[in-house]
Amino acid sequence: MAEVEEKIFEGLGVSPGIAEGEVVVHWQDEEEVPLRDIAEEEIPGEIARFEAALIATRQELLEIQQRIVAAIGAGDASIFDAHLLVVEDRTLIDEALRGLERDKHNIEFVFHQVAEKYCRTLAAIDDPYLQERVVDIEDVTRRVLRHLLGKGHGDLHKLDRPHIIIAANLTPSDTALINRDLVRGFVTEQGSRTSHSAIMARSLGIPAIVALPGICSKLTTGDQVLLDGYSGKLILEPKEQTRFEYGQIEKHKVEVENQLEAIRETPSTTRDGRHLVLSANIELPSEIDAVASSGAEGIGLFRTEFLFLNKQTSPGEDEQYEAYKTAAEKCAPHGVIIRTLDIGGDKLMHLPHAVVEPNPFLGRRAIRLCLDEPALFKTQLRAILRASAHGNIRLMYPMVTQIDEVKWANAFLEECKKELSAEGKAFKHDIEAGCMIEVPSAALIADQLAKEVKFFSVGTNDLVQYTMAVDRGNDRVAHLYQPTHPSVLRLIAMACQAAHKHGIWIGVCGEMASEIHLTPLLLGFGMDELSVVTAAVPRVKKAVQSLDFKECSELACHAAGMTDPGEIDKMCREHAKKNYRDLFDC
Ligand code: PEP
Ligand code: MG
Repeated sequence: MAEVEEKIFEGLGVSPGIAEGEVVVHWQDEEEVPLRDIAEEEIPGEIARFEAALIATRQELLEIQQRIVAAIGAGDASIFDAHLLVVEDRTLIDEALRGLERDKHNIEFVFHQVAEKYCRTLAAIDDPYLQERVVDIEDVTRRVLRHLLGKGHGDLHKLDRPHIIIAANLTPSDTALINRDLVRGFVTEQGSRTSHSAIMARSLGIPAIVALPGICSKLTTGDQVLLDGYSGKLILEPKEQTRFEYGQIEKHKVEVENQLEAIRETPSTTRDGRHLVLSANIELPSEIDAVASSGAEGIGLFRTEFLFLNKQTSPGEDEQYEAYKTAAEKCAPHGVIIRTLDIGGDKLMHLPHAVVEPNPFLGRRAIRLCLDEPALFKTQLRAILRASAHGNIRLMYPMVTQIDEVKWANAFLEECKKELSAEGKAFKHDIEAGCMIEVPSAALIADQLAKEVKFFSVGTNDLVQYTMAVDRGNDRVAHLYQPTHPSVLRLIAMACQAAHKHGIWIGVCGEMASEIHLTPLLLGFGMDELSVVTAAVPRVKKAVQSLDFKECSELACHAAGMTDPGEIDKMCREHAKKNYRDLFDC
């Protein structure tokens, strides 16, 4: 029998690995809601369908609620309460029923129209609370419509067999809910290498491809594909020969992984004896065990905002304290750097009085939001301080753009220390506070910031975005997102020199640190630490061990005189390949 012709789609591989299996197309975007005239006698049937869809949606929401509580360990019973209220909202339901009797159209059409009108009315009222409810109503409406249209739910976590997710986009909150045991990989139409979902895929070790426009309509749930997270190829109905070739790549990968396993407990020191702290980035507390077994020297970036996503209310002081304490205890004797809340940009949480911002990446994000919401900030600072009594904890502030932000944040920290002392609660009095260098303005005043903090951590994901004016998640301008652009390298070098001049250490926790072809450059700049995606720790360690620091310094010097980002990248890659070719083949 002739083999079915395989079809190859090419996107951007953002999380390495090969996955094979059945796809599930995540129904996400608005679809046409069909319009159909109905006869008088069909009305009771339409009402029954409507009631069944509302009941099914209610059940679905309750299950999500339980699932989130279990996944995030929040015990927060109010999650999705607002959504549940929408399913029971008599105004909405009665208006839909009246519309059904009056217009005699199918119920999905009537309900869609009523819900849209309801949302428009609420959105027009100048009340942040009501405006926020619009998002809940839109979400619930989509769910009810899916049931009425027989589309089933679009929830990723309810699937009970291994699969590869195909979606238009995945938000960081969607990705946080992915069931790692069943999701073999994911492919999205949008996204980029440094979008938070891509970062999470790498953290979770799930192969992923982004920037594949139109893929949702080209595949159907149940299609068999092979996903190559290295090259970004998605192969529909792969041929036997293709599957064999990928099997060979997997085999080689296992061999390299075995070699890397052998160096797990060895130090990340260059051939000529320069030691660099190699730590790991985490998003969820559930990743902490993987850090300990990766051979990392602790956690260099704990993205705490993931404790806050998918929740109706923020986690309290005790809940956060437990999470930070666990991290510190599990990483001992190594340290944990806890980054204070970096909400905003593409990571949005439920906040009372939140408003939709036209430019969230340039808006009330991270330290700006925390300084504006002292109760939220102080709760976190108190939790971090209390956890510092149980291990080696430092904290750092994200998205700093001016010195006053650090001064104010430090003042809040001192205030929290005083409160805890008065309450007789233990904490580390000389806890170190650092700041991220991820906005050009921070790099440019790094010499001034260095006097206010104990360390710097360069967030290259944002530094590139803000320097190049390229939205890090927008695939349409992804070609302009150039980590080796001379402007970015100058800012990194500037921060590094300022840190060392003022006697503080500096690391990189952005994705550049996880790219093994850039290890020579970052080492050459004189970085003291690299904090990388947990899954990349063994590779970066091998890279560091294979390099000569003096040669890397010369390379960095040479790069500083170059003008073409592509040429700089190529030079770094060649240097890396000369020293650890094996790591590039899988
Ligand atoms: C960065 O910007 O490089 C960083 C580490 O922070 P995040 O990716 O969470 O914005
Ligand atoms: Mg950042």
